[in-house]
Parts: sequence; C-alpha cells; structure tokens
Amino acid sequence: MRKKIVAGNWKMNTELESAIRLAAEIDEKTAHSSAHIDDVEIILFPPFPFIHETMEVINTERIKVGAQTCATEESGAYTGEVSAKMIASLQATHILVGHSERRQYYHEDSTILLKKAQATLNHHLTPVFCLGENLEQRKSNKHLQVIEQQLEEVIFKFSKQDFQKFIIAYEPVWAIGTGETASPEQAQEVHAFIRKLIGQKYDNKTADNMSILYGGSVKPGNANELFSQPDIDGGLIGGASLKSDDFLAIIESY
Ligand code: PEP
Repeated sequence: MRKKIVAGNWKMNTELESAIRLAAEIDEKTAHSSAHIDDVEIILFPPFPFIHETMEVINTERIKVGAQTCATEESGAYTGEVSAKMIASLQATHILVGHSERRQYYHEDSTILLKKAQATLNHHLTPVFCLGENLEQRKSNKHLQVIEQQLEEVIFKFSKQDFQKFIIAYEPVWAIGTGETASPEQAQEVHAFIRKLIGQKYDNKTADNMSILYGGSVKPGNANELFSQPDIDGGLIGGASLKSDDFLAIIESY
C-alpha cells in the first residue's frame, strides 16, 4: 500500500528562532490532534541551516525532515554547495529534486537532476521528484507530453529497485505560489497518467505503490477535495506550511 504524505516546503523563509518555533508547533499540534492522522507521514523541508535544530524539537517519529535540494557532487571544492552526504550526516531523510523554482531560477536541467537524484539515493535518502508543466504548456494542451518527458529524462532512467525509493510530486508551475490551484479533476488526470506510465515502464504493482503528491496552492479549504481523488496520495505544501494551524488543517483533511 502506498503511503499518505503531507510535506511542507518552507523555501527561503524563517530564521533560526521562527524555524524552531514552527517545527515545535507542528510536532505538538499533530501529536494532540483528535483527527485520524496516524497513518499520514509528515515531511518538513526547512532551509539548510535550520535542519539540525528543527530535528531537535521534533519528537513524533512519523515527522521526517529533509532538504530542499543538494549538490550534484559528494564533496570538494564547490563553494556554497551542500551535499547529500552532509544532509545524510544530519539524519535527515528526504531531498527535493527538481522543484520548479530550482529548474527555473537555477537552470537545473535533466542532466543535473539525474545526478542529484543519484546522489540522494547513494546516501540512502528518499528523493522527492517534482515535475509539472508551465502555463503555456497547459494552455496549449501539451501538459501530458511535458510530464512524460520529465519522467523519461530523469526517474525512468532508474532501475525498478531504485525507482521504488522515490516519491513523486506533481506541481503545475502555474499553480505554485500563485493562489491558483489545479482543479481536483485536472490534478487527478495527471496523477492517473503518471501512474499509468509507471505501470507501462515497470509494472502495475510498482505503479500502485508509488506515492504521488500534488503541489500548487494547497490550502485548508481545498485540500480535502484534492486528497479525495483516487490517485492523489497527499500534498507538497509551500505557503500554507509556514503557519502551523493551516498545515495541521491540511494534514487533518485526510
Ligand atoms: C511548493 O513550493 O512546492 C508549493 C506547492 O508552493 P505553494 O503551496 O505556495 O503553491
């Protein structure tokens, strides 16, 4: 059975004190929630400098902490970079690979993303592979073609054994941070398509077991409808993950 997951991408937000406070609030509020959320895995992606301190205040085992990206290389003369090996040494568990902001602002193409995904796996961490079409591609009805290409160029290059270690996050670029959300039907169409392609590439069991998250302006008011879709296994949440009440309400939408 695939996991239900709600992940919070804090992006370049918070400072040390507010990061610790946010993590502690999420830990406390999920622990005391009266909703049936015990089977929802929660992953927090704070900025690099706060990963360690954030982990220190989390007592709930199913709350994991990850990094928002990693270097393609393992170590050496790469000023400013942070490697998967370093992230693993903090006991963090996940790394986002291919978030649209990394693709857009830092020109991370498939060659780079392949290396980052491999670096993540090399250190036994879980890559959360993000993909999604932009507005122009959606308007010209090319979204499924774009999704297929993004899968082919990166994660479909891995063996079945390695592919099974990934989580996928479908994030239409036009819905990230814009307040505009894909409708549940639009999101479901793409999630079902991704699952179908996984079935064709590997097998149906692998497709059935893959957690595919939706991301793009998920809020407490729209999470339930999205998470009710048969092929949506949770969410990758940006803005709304910075307020513990909103993040909790999204988790409780399951
Ligand atoms: C994201 O950054 O992955 C994201 C989905 O952001 P937001 O929820 O703010 O649209």
